[in-house]
Amino acid sequence: MSFPSWLSQLYRGLSRPIRRTTQPIWGSLYRSLVQSSQRRNPEFSSFAVRTNTCGELRSSHLGQEVTLCGWIQYRRQNTFLVLRDFHGLVQVVIPQDESAASVRKILCEAPVESVVQVSGTVISRPAGQENPKMPTGEIEIKVKTAELLNACKKLPFEIKDFMKKTEGLRLQYRYLDLRSFQMQYNLRLRSQMVMKMREYLCNLHGFVDIETPTLFKRTPGGAKEFLVPSREPGKFYSLPQSPQQFKQLLMVGGLDRYFQVARCYRDEGSRPDRQPEFTQIDIEMSFVDQTGIQSLIEGLLQYSWPNDKDPVVVPFPTVTFTEALATYGTDKPDTRFGMKIIDISDVFRNTEIGFLQDALSKPHGTVKAICIPEGAKYLKRKDIESIRKFAADHFNQEILPVFLNANRNWNSPVASFIMESQRLELIRLMDTQEEDVVLLTAGEHNKACSLLGKLRLECADLLETRGMVLRDPTLFSFLWVVDFPLFLPKEENPRELESAHHPFTAPHPSDIHLLYTEPKKARSQHYDLVLNGNEIGGGSIRIHNAELQRYILATLLKEDVKMLSHLLQALDYGAPPHGGIALGLDRLICLVTGSPSIRDVIAFPKSFRGHDLMSNAPDSIPSEELKPYHIRVSWPTDSKAERAH
Ligand code: ASP
Repeated sequence: MSFPSWLSQLYRGLSRPIRRTTQPIWGSLYRSLVQSSQRRNPEFSSFAVRTNTCGELRSSHLGQEVTLCGWIQYRRQNTFLVLRDFHGLVQVVIPQDESAASVRKILCEAPVESVVQVSGTVISRPAGQENPKMPTGEIEIKVKTAELLNACKKLPFEIKDFMKKTEGLRLQYRYLDLRSFQMQYNLRLRSQMVMKMREYLCNLHGFVDIETPTLFKRTPGGAKEFLVPSREPGKFYSLPQSPQQFKQLLMVGGLDRYFQVARCYRDEGSRPDRQPEFTQIDIEMSFVDQTGIQSLIEGLLQYSWPNDKDPVVVPFPTVTFTEALATYGTDKPDTRFGMKIIDISDVFRNTEIGFLQDALSKPHGTVKAICIPEGAKYLKRKDIESIRKFAADHFNQEILPVFLNANRNWNSPVASFIMESQRLELIRLMDTQEEDVVLLTAGEHNKACSLLGKLRLECADLLETRGMVLRDPTLFSFLWVVDFPLFLPKEENPRELESAHHPFTAPHPSDIHLLYTEPKKARSQHYDLVLNGNEIGGGSIRIHNAELQRYILATLLKEDVKMLSHLLQALDYGAPPHGGIALGLDRLICLVTGSPSIRDVIAFPKSFRGHDLMSNAPDSIPSEELKPYHIRVSWPTDSKAERAH
C-alpha cells in the first residue's frame, strides 16, 4: 500500500463533546462512534467469540446468524431485553415457546448488568415497533441459544449516565463507572487523539518514542516529589516530576527528536485540574528555536483534533507575559471573551475621589477597570457586595462599582465626583454601553491587574449562571504566552529567586547581560500554551552551555549543583542547542470532551486527597516489611489514637 493511501485510512477523530449524556442521545453518539470507527474498518470482533458488536447491527444484517456478548441494560415484561456493549444497544427477543424454556429462563432470570452471550438471527422489528432513536432500532435478535457468562450482584448505582452519583462512589466502583457511556467515550477519544499524535510525531516528523525511568533522584527546585525507599539505608529514589533531564540528555545523545507519553508525579495534592500522577505529551528537539516548537505543536494539535469539531486554526495568537498580566490579570488568559482590563489612570489624574488620589500619588500607582457587559441588568446588589468583600479580603483592595444607567445618571457611591469630561473619556476608553457596570480599582499595577483578572472570571461565571452566553461552548481559544521573566521572587523568601519555568530554561538572547546585573529583569525563552484560560502546555529553549547553566544554578538560584553534576557534565560534551515542551494530556482531553474534572478522562484517578478509593492506596505496611528499607514510621500523636480504634 502506498504511503498516502495508508495515511488516508488513518483514524479520523470522534464525535462531538458531551457534557450531559441522557438516554435519548446515546443512539446518535454511539452512531457517530461506530461510524467513525467503520471509516477505518477496524475488526471489533476479531479473535473473540462474538461475531458482531451489539451496536453495529442494521437492516443490512437481516437474516444473518450472529453471536453477541454484552451486558443486560434492561428487560421489558419478560418479552425482550436490551443488550449493551461499547458499540451500542440491541434488542433481543426472549422466546416465548415451550421448546425454548431454558433460554427463556436464562434471559428472564439474569439480573440487570449480568453479562450474557446470545446467538440467533437478525430479524426486522414488527411494523410500527421500530425505534428511530436507536441506531439498531430497525432490527432485533431472534435468540436460539443463550448463556449466562456471569451474573451481576445488586449494583451500588445504576449504570446509566443520567443517574446522578457522587464522585466518591464512582471512584470506589470505578470498574462499574467505566461502563458508562461518558467514560467509554472519554477514554476512547483520548486513545484516538494520542494515536494521532504518535502518527504526527513519529510517522510524519521523525520523532522517536523513548521511555525514560520513573525511578530517579531528586531534582532541585520545582514541585515536591514522591519518594521511593530503597534497600540501601537512608537512600531514596524520587519519582520524576517530568522527564526533563532525560529528554535533554537524549539530545546530547544525538536522539534529536524525542517524544514520550510520559507519566509524571508531583506530590502536591489533587485539584479539579491536577492529579498526583498525570500524563504529558513530552517533546524535545535539537537545532530548533521557539517558533519551531510553536509550529510543531500547532501542527500536532491540528492533526490530532477530533474531526467533528471546528478545525484548529493556526498559527495561534501570541501575547507576552507582560501584556497578558496587564490585559487579563493572569498568565493564562481566557480569550473567549473580552472584558479586558483598561488602565484609566490618566482619566483620574485630577480626581477628588480619595482612594484614587491616594493610589495615583504613589510611585507605581494606577487606576484600572473592567466593564461588565449588561452588568446592571444581570448583577444584583448582593453580587457587587460580595465582589467588594472578595477584593478587600483577598487583595486588600477597594472596588468601586459604577452602574451605567440609561438615564445618564450613573449610579455609584462616587457618581457626583466624576466630572462630565471624565465620564466621556471613560466611555471612550472602555467602550461602555448603557446597562454596563464598570468595576474600578486603584493601586499597584500587578496587584490591581491580578484582582481585576480574578473578578473578570468571577463575573463571567456570574453572568453565565444568570443566562448570558458569554463563552461559546464550542469555541477552543488557543493562545501562546511568551517572554516570561526568567526568575520570580521566591514565595517564601521574596529576596531570593526561583525559576519561573525551570532552571534549564535559556534566557532571552537580548537579555543575557542582565543575568550579571539585574537578573530579575531578564526575560526567558519560555512559552506556555493556553486553551480557554487553562495552561495546557509549557516549554522552553534550554541552556546548552554548561558554564551558563552552572552560573544560574549556583549563583542565582543557590541550588546544590552537585545534584545536577551529570547534566552539567553532559552539556560540556558537545550538547546541541535544543528546546522542547510538554502538553498536559489529561487537561487537554478534559477540555476537548468538556468534562468537569480531569478525573473524568483518567481511567483510575486518585481522589481529591490523592487516594485510590477503590483499593485504598496509599495503605499501611507492616513494620516487618519496612525493615529491609531501614524505615520506621513515627506516628503523629493524634493518628495513634485513630489507629487504636
Ligand atoms: N518539563 C517541563 C514541564 O513539565 C516542560 C518542558 O520544559 O518541556 O513543565
